[in-house]
This record gives sequence, C-alpha cells and structure tokens, in this order.
Amino acid sequence: MTEKIALVTGANKGIGREISRQLAAQGVLVLMGARDSQRGEQAVKDLRAASLSVEFVQIDVTSQPSVEKAASEVERRHGRLDILVNNAGIALDWFPASELTVEAFQQTFDTNVFGVFRVTKAFLPLLKKSGHGRIVNVSSGLGSLNRNADPNSTLAIRNQLLAYCSSKAALNMMTIHFAKELQSAGIKVNSANPGFTATDMNQHRGSRTVEQGAAEPVRLALLPDDGPTAGVFSDTGAEPW
Ligand code: NAP
Repeated sequence: MTEKIALVTGANKGIGREISRQLAAQGVLVLMGARDSQRGEQAVKDLRAASLSVEFVQIDVTSQPSVEKAASEVERRHGRLDILVNNAGIALDWFPASELTVEAFQQTFDTNVFGVFRVTKAFLPLLKKSGHGRIVNVSSGLGSLNRNADPNSTLAIRNQLLAYCSSKAALNMMTIHFAKELQSAGIKVNSANPGFTATDMNQHRGSRTVEQGAAEPVRLALLPDDGPTAGVFSDTGAEPW
C-alpha cells in the first residue's frame, strides 16, 4: 500500500472541503463526496488547481442507492478505504424545541444519524481491507449531554436546536458502539468537535475559521496505531460526552 485513501462526505464546501484540502496536503488521496455533482466537481477542480490529489464521488447520505453506488465505485477504483470522514450534516432548527416539527426532526436525523450509519455500514468492508482504518464522525459540542445540562455552560447556542443537538448526541453513541466492535479489526472510531466555525450552516456567525474547524477531524483521521478510539475530541483535547 502506498498513499492513504480517504472519503469525506459533504466535501463540496465548509469544514468538509477544508478537511479534504488539509488531508490532501498531507499526501492523502481524497475522495470528495458531494450530493450535487456540479458543486462536487467544482470543489475537486479548485483543489486540483492547487496540485492536490482529489477525486469526486457522488454521494447523498440520505439515499441508500446513492451510498451503495458510491461504495461500489470506490471499490472499483481503489479496492479499499483507509479513512472515512462522516462530515455531511444539517442544522435546521434555530429555534426552541416547542417550535420544532416532527418532519424537521426526522430530516435532521436522516442526515446526521441515519446518513452516517448508512455510509459507515456501506464502507466497512472497504475499511476492513485497510488494516489501519480510521472513522471520524464530525460531531459538535452541542451534542454533549453534559454541556447541554450545565446551567453555566459556555455553549454558543442555548435553548435551540433540539433536533441538531440530539442528532449529534446519537452520533456520539454510534462512535462508541462502532469503536468497540471494530477495535479488533484495527479500526479507530472517534468523534470530532470542530468548534463554532464560520460556514453556511450558521450564516458565517461562527467564531472559528474552517482551517481551525478542520484541524481536529484531520488529526483524528491520521491517528497512529497507538492513538485513542471511542472518544470525542476538540483541538483542546478530550471533550465531555
Ligand atoms: P456546511 O457548510 O453547511 O456544509 C455541510 C455539507 O454537508 C455540505 O457539503 C452539504 O452539501 C453536505 N450535505 C448536507 N446534506 C447532505 C446529504 N444528504 N448528502 C451529502 N451531503 C450533504 O456546514 P459545515 O459547518 O461545514 O458542517 C460540516 C459538519 O460540521 C456538519 O456535520 C456539522 O454538523 C459539523 N459542525 C459544524 C459546526 C460549525 O460551527 N459550522 C460546529 C460543529 C459541528 P450541499 O452543499 O449539497 O448542501
């Protein structure tokens, strides 16, 4: 095996695009996943213009056929996967829980939870062929039950985003369960908290740059074999669940 191969979902913009850029800059061949071909191809074109090694893969994490087609395509092209960054995510409910609809709640879980589950399951056979697989679930400090329950918490957003916060809490549970199951296969699974990062998701109100937000997911994607698994981390260290 020569270079590492990574798949990043939701790679056409924001933190996912920057994770792709930083991984490729470190010599990883990055498969940039995007649901929209035009947006995905454009992001690939932009990074290739900077001499980075990237390819486009069409993948809508809410669509089982799309995810299965992407996994078949990666198998055909490369035969294995070393790094999966489950980055694609949505935040729809910038208001109190009482205003949330069941539909928006379900839509959020379909992307942020079932989307990650769907993609992880589909790519597990390819990750197992790596021998040193890494899965990074891009979570959020807002997924922390401890922080949400703490009246003195410094969370940037409070009393909003029930669907989003609970989806990231569920994602963190997925991290723990897959990490335990896959330990014997040499696969490490961790959650990354990028911090409040200026992207389209929050109308660029975040206080951190995408370069800062992408740094921890990238570190976890490149963990050595003696690195941690089943944790949630930000660039200041281990975080509370
Ligand atoms: P963003 O700029 O809105 O980017 C989200 C990405 O996810 C886009 O590429 C989007 O594609 C993609 N996506 C959404 N639904 C998808 C689907 N069904 N299938 C495939 N791709 C899909 O947001 P971001 O801030 O970079 O967020 C990236 C991740 O970081 C998310 O998981 C988010 O929850 C997490 N996060 C962000 C912050 C923050 O402050 N920004 C903080 C903590 C965690 P389209 O362009 O096609 O919509």
